[in-house]
Amino acid sequence: MSETKHRIVIVGAGLAGLSAGVFLKRKGYNNILFVDKSDRPGGKLKTDLIDGYTLNHSNSLINSHFKYLNELIDLSSLKMHYLEKGALVMKGSKLEKIIHPFSKNFLVYKMLFADFGNFKDKIRFIKKRIELDQLDEEELFDSFELKTKTYLKKKGFSSSIIHGFFEPYFSTFFMENELSASRRLFDYILKNHTAGKNGIPEGGTESLINELTKEFDKDSFILNTNVEDYKDEKVFLKDGRTLDCNIFILATEQNELYDRLKKDRRQGETRSTTTLYFSANNKPFKESLICVNSEKPKLVSSVTVLTNLSSSFAPKNKELICVSLNGFATTSDEDLEKAVKSELQKAFGNEVQQWNHIKTYKNLNAISNQEAVFGRRRIVELRPEKGIYLCGDHLLYGSINAAVKTGKMIAELVNYDHNKDTKVQKSKKYSDLFN
Ligand SMILES: Cc1cc2nc3c(=O)[nH]c(=O)nc-3n(C[C@H](O)[C@H](O)[C@H](O)COP(=O)(O)OP(=O)(O)OC[C@H]3O[C@@H](n4cnc5c(N)ncnc54)[C@H](O)[C@@H]3O)c2cc1C
Repeated sequence: MSETKHRIVIVGAGLAGLSAGVFLKRKGYNNILFVDKSDRPGGKLKTDLIDGYTLNHSNSLINSHFKYLNELIDLSSLKMHYLEKGALVMKGSKLEKIIHPFSKNFLVYKMLFADFGNFKDKIRFIKKRIELDQLDEEELFDSFELKTKTYLKKKGFSSSIIHGFFEPYFSTFFMENELSASRRLFDYILKNHTAGKNGIPEGGTESLINELTKEFDKDSFILNTNVEDYKDEKVFLKDGRTLDCNIFILATEQNELYDRLKKDRRQGETRSTTTLYFSANNKPFKESLICVNSEKPKLVSSVTVLTNLSSSFAPKNKELICVSLNGFATTSDEDLEKAVKSELQKAFGNEVQQWNHIKTYKNLNAISNQEAVFGRRRIVELRPEKGIYLCGDHLLYGSINAAVKTGKMIAELVNYDHNKDTKVQKSKKYSDLFN
């Protein structure tokens, strides 16, 4: 179908908004305008290149198995650098390597002898992986909801594997330390980490964004412009201007504007994170693995030596280290740096004190609280009233794949609303996306 008469304004040129734009374009909708308050598209996936270091604002990892991302883009165009499967687990001054849980094929046998959990835990873990192999993504999100820790206990996992491995590993991806996030999210992460690999593109996460913005000309973006409101086909900008449109897509994070425009006025709870980058002359560890912290209480959630993935992330003979914390650090950068170094000194020795702090990113409202996550949404939750459409990862779960999926859902819904073709209206694919 060729459709040019609709004027579509997409507020928020993060991954969700851009995905909605690309999927709409593929359906023939061309009159699309993005408005973003930031100086450039990308939202949480922006990357800063500072003195030869590649700093991703959120250190988001792209999984090669992300179903909707693979529909959006050919990942091979991004020159991905992947982590190995598994983790290093920090236990006081010791680092324990756990490489088998996510490896597939011949490693079921190897995993039985790997150094994590007891024998029964390993059998349960293997059974869980096999069970997840049989489920597609949609079915996985239809399973009953429960906090992950309760779910793991119910499944009979020992407290030793829960505290020693599940808690440190999954808390990095849940962005909280108690495994209170959804068991659907646990299953989803486990499935993806078994089937796919996690990585970062050579140019940083923003190069994914650049692939998408290429599809639109420069005039399709109004940047450095805050949108204040929308009413009756008019978009109100903070600088006093108004824009006319008949399709309005709100693709922002969960913020004041979002809370006002969605029908359900309850404010969603969110999680915040802090990411610090350091340069160093030597690597604290050589493995291309994420290093998670099993200590409690803890400040640091995980450490990744990005130059173990690719030396391109730092200048020659330098290492780039990314340290992630769950929560929003309110202390000064200087105090935070001291506290982080003092915690990491136990595992990595005095050399930590020589690391040079490059930059700290504080991600307030990084993701929704993840205690109830969804694979689908009811149409009324995506289109609270005629002409207004909502997208963004917070509608489903905190992930790149979810952001893209909501973009696709909105493109399908817009097409559904504006296409009188009954074949489109009855298409089975809608039932996969909407309840
Ligand atoms: C620390 C951290 C780690 C993460 N790790 C991973 C990971 O390992 N793997 C993974 O898959 N995902 C991860 N994620 C999640 C992933 O980054 C997000 O799912 C995704 O980037 C969200 O995209 P989005 O478009 O929904 O939102 P955003 O990227 O937040 O985009 C929203 C856009 O809206 C704009 N905006 C907001 N309000 C207005 C307004 N009033 N007017 C104009 N513009 C406005 C903003 O400037 C922004 O550009 C992580 C996220 C964080 C924060």
